Amino acid sequence: MSCVSYPYEAPVSQKLFERASAVTPGGVNSPVRAFKAVGGTPRFMVSGSGPYLQDADGREYVDLVCSWGPMILGHSHPAVLEAVQAAVARGTSFGTPGQGEVELAEEIVGRVAPVEQVRLVSSGTEATMSAIRLARGFTNRAKVVKFAGCYHGHVDALLAAAGSGVATFGLPDTPGVTGAQAGDTIVLPYNDLDAVRAAFAANPGAIACVITEASPGNMGVVPPLPGFNHGLAQLCKENGALFISDEVMTGFRVSKAGWYGLEGAREGWAPDLLTFGKVMGGGFPAAAFGGRADVMARLAPAGPVYQAGTLSGNPVATAAGLAQLRGCTDEVYATVDRVAAEVSGLVSQALSKEGVAHRVQSAGNMFSVFFTDQPVTDYDRAKAQEAHRFTAFFHSMLADGVYLPPSAFESWFVSASHDERAVERIAAALPAAARAAAESRPA
Ligand code: PLP
Repeated sequence: MSCVSYPYEAPVSQKLFERASAVTPGGVNSPVRAFKAVGGTPRFMVSGSGPYLQDADGREYVDLVCSWGPMILGHSHPAVLEAVQAAVARGTSFGTPGQGEVELAEEIVGRVAPVEQVRLVSSGTEATMSAIRLARGFTNRAKVVKFAGCYHGHVDALLAAAGSGVATFGLPDTPGVTGAQAGDTIVLPYNDLDAVRAAFAANPGAIACVITEASPGNMGVVPPLPGFNHGLAQLCKENGALFISDEVMTGFRVSKAGWYGLEGAREGWAPDLLTFGKVMGGGFPAAAFGGRADVMARLAPAGPVYQAGTLSGNPVATAAGLAQLRGCTDEVYATVDRVAAEVSGLVSQALSKEGVAHRVQSAGNMFSVFFTDQPVTDYDRAKAQEAHRFTAFFHSMLADGVYLPPSAFESWFVSASHDERAVERIAAALPAAARAAAESRPA
């Protein structure tokens, strides 16, 4: 970490963080919210409107995190709020089937062609965990291939992230994940089809599925190389394994049909199962997994693979998700794409002007900045960047009222509500932040 000074104060957030730290581990309910990677005090937000967040100290920020992806229409979108208020007025949970679940499922099936059936859950973690169980139940095989740097939630078997090397058997690197839980996970370098071929050859008839982020955003934005996803689909088919595309982050964000809409639909390949979350919940806990009808038919109560949830398909969450998805029109995607291109272009210009080596990498309207002059195609290359420069950049932007993800290894997100004024505020903050990045020295 660089020696960054914090030239501004957030006394109310500081006080809340002290209270939070007394009763909650690390003071946060999800680690990435803490400012551990960048230092300083996490901002406690009290409200959001359009592209802006307001913190407990009364400062306003242009939000480039968008709740880590979900808020594609912006904060407090009137159509979403209205749907939520109407749903709440009818009751908050019934523990029975409801019409909202049917409509949300129909909306998903209608948008993403390979999804013939879908099951609603409450978080992306639940979606990937259940998809893996289903793949194992369907194939009667145990092993799972994942890629280093891809995050699929905090599922025990998927927290295995072995070091570099081809066909490495995952060992638990999070205390609490046992060797038994992670022992059937094979961790491979991202974008390396030869490694996948070798894993299938070394484990004949044993691999249940390959799971990948449709386009990774959890090591920074590292898009699949041309042909990588297509190759995964083919290798899975040839070897009797299922191909699971994790679209929790990309789903309904980068296009109406997510990453599949940008790549698979055009190239003529399809995942067997897909997982969703974030945007489809409209800011509420709603997520899903779905895919081939013959695979989904193995799920209880239609089939023997058990999966359940007290709050699955919750009426308030489904109302929010449905309102948001219905609001995600072609015009909305065009706006989000345009804003993302504009902001990422401004960032690159500002850094170039200060002579800072960097690469802005994009996948549809998701993007992030790597402080390196080398293309980043996998986790090892992502880790090789000069992350201390991001720390300096982050704090300068924060001081000037722009809220970035507090890590050099996360995607940035914009919304359809990021208008000219919001972009101007970002543009105004960039020169100082680029200077801070240029002047940053490793600690
Ligand atoms: N999969 C991907 C690609 C994600 O980005 C995330 C969360 O960031 C998850 C799964 C887990 O989702 P959740 O945090 O809702 O459990």
